[in-house]
Amino acid sequence: MHKKLTKKVLKAIESWIGIRLNLRQRYRIIVRSQPRAHRKIKFTQEKKLAKAHFAKRLSEISNTHAISYNKFRLSSAKTRWGSCSRKRNINLNWRLIFAPPGILDYVIMHELSHLTHMNHSKAFWAHVERMMPDYKTHRAWLKKNGRLLSRATNKIQIH
Ligand SMILES: [Zn+2]
Repeated sequence: MHKKLTKKVLKAIESWIGIRLNLRQRYRIIVRSQPRAHRKIKFTQEKKLAKAHFAKRLSEISNTHAISYNKFRLSSAKTRWGSCSRKRNINLNWRLIFAPPGILDYVIMHELSHLTHMNHSKAFWAHVERMMPDYKTHRAWLKKNGRLLSRATNKIQIH
């Protein structure tokens, strides 16, 4: 990966999450401790944080809207932010930990709405809108920044 792009995505991630995770510092530590090319960040800590935080948020939102789900799992898909199954299981992408808080809520409400409407019909979007009247802003954010976020968190490599 080009250094310029790496810097750009790290900067983007930092501005989204603030200094809480101190990613740049971790990044430097990891790079310094590995002498060869193919240096990677595994985001172990962030995944752990995501698992706990997403489970809490999903539980809160589903309670507020009286929608029950079965199990929650953390996913590592490259481009898919969330999914759900007929068994009412919800999967949320750990990479959302780097997105602004409203984005996670939107993805959760999107998936919870799929438990009623297993499609993207007008009725589905009306359901999402009732849960989150400003959902379009968040949906647009994901469309605009999703690829960058996905790329930035897909094991950053430097040569
Ligand atoms: Zn959907």
